[in-house]
Amino acid sequence: MGLGHEIMRVFGWYSRGPLPGAEVPGPRPTRILDPLEPAPEVPLAAIAPSATDPTETDIAMMRRAIELARQAAAVGEVPVGAVVYETATGQILAEASNRREVDRDPTAHAELIAMREACRVRHDWRLTDCTVVVTLEPCPMCAGVIVNARVGRLVYGAADPKAGACRSLIELTNDARLNHRVEPIDGVLAEECAALLKSFFASLRRSDRPRKPDSSAPPGGSS
Ligand SMILES: [Zn+2]
Repeated sequence: MGLGHEIMRVFGWYSRGPLPGAEVPGPRPTRILDPLEPAPEVPLAAIAPSATDPTETDIAMMRRAIELARQAAAVGEVPVGAVVYETATGQILAEASNRREVDRDPTAHAELIAMREACRVRHDWRLTDCTVVVTLEPCPMCAGVIVNARVGRLVYGAADPKAGACRSLIELTNDARLNHRVEPIDGVLAEECAALLKSFFASLRRSDRPRKPDSSAPPGGSS
């Protein structure tokens, strides 16, 4: 072996690249399910935890989050609901609806309350093996918590063109400069989620109540 080859070997090691002549592993085989075979008996969420499509579990959880959003609207809150569940088992750890008005708290967004509660339940600030499901695209504050809690999966419904920090305005949850990334699965039951917000703001405009929400241009600024 010549000196040049040896330098290449050392350089290759330092740059973490493959050693010259080393066997380079090929791409990992893609799992292909035979459509004629019955589905394997594993939780749907466990089949493709990082895929861009929602699982059946995600959709079921979004339906629950929409129900929570409806409950928020019934007490005059901007209708946003959220669920945190354990990805592998589908077990709900926490759920919440927006409580900004009743708590007089700018941080009382549905997904933030649910993440706090999930951490309390698990005695851990990390939610790596959890999925956060929320009816509206998270704001910068909540997206920041999603990154800090190392949330494994994020699923949301309606996009928020005025405050969304996962795709619409910025991509805070998927920024390579940060130490944790989660690719959001967006648009899940989005029309239903957005319709709740639209009808809520429309009813506010029709009402004679003197107080107007700060987010008078729906659906922004509410999560
Ligand atoms: Zn928020």
